[in-house]
Amino acid sequence: MSKRGPQCTVCAHRERASLDLALARGVGVTALSRRYSLGVDALYRHSKNHLPPQLRAQLLAGPSIAGLDLDKLRDTESQSLLANIIALRNRLFASLDAAEENGDGTMLARVAGQLHRNLELTGRLLGNLNSGTSITNNVLVMPAYVEMRVELVRALAPYPQARQAVAAVLHTIEHKAAADITADTRELAR
Ligand SMILES: [Zn+2]
Repeated sequence: MSKRGPQCTVCAHRERASLDLALARGVGVTALSRRYSLGVDALYRHSKNHLPPQLRAQLLAGPSIAGLDLDKLRDTESQSLLANIIALRNRLFASLDAAEENGDGTMLARVAGQLHRNLELTGRLLGNLNSGTSITNNVLVMPAYVEMRVELVRALAPYPQARQAVAAVLHTIEHKAAADITADTRELAR
C-alpha cells in the first residue's frame, strides 16, 4: 500500500469520496483544484499514488452492478438496486455538469454513455418490479427527462450564469426526486 497520511491533503479532505469519484471519472486536476481549494500538485500526487486502478474501476462501476443477473433478482433486491442506480445517476448528472463547466468533450461523451447504460439498466429493473409503483412517474426514471436535461445544459453552455442557475434548479428537483424514490422503495420493501 502506498504511504498515505495527514500529509496528503486530498486523503484528509472531508469530500474525499467526491474527489476520488471525480478523479476516477477523469475530471481535470485544475478544475478540482479550483472547486475544492486544493493544490494542483497535491491532487496530482493523490491521483497517482492513492487511487489505484482497481479502486478507479470500482468507483466507475458504481454500486456492484457488474456481474448481477437482473432476471434472478427478487423484488426487494431489485428495489434496493434501483435506489442505488438512481443515486448513481444523480452523481452522473453532477459529472455531466462538471464536464460542461470545463468544456471537456471527451468526458462529456463518456458520462453521456454511462447515463445511457444507467437508463437501460433502470428500465430492466423497473420491468422486474411489480407494476403499480409510483417510481415510474419519478423524473429521474423518465428517459425524456434525462434527454431534456442533457440538451438543456448543453444549449446553455454559452451562457455560464444561466447554466449555473438552471443547474441549481435541476439539482433541487433531482435531489427531491431521489428522496421520493428512496421513500417509495422503502414502502415497497415492507
Ligand atoms: Zn491521498
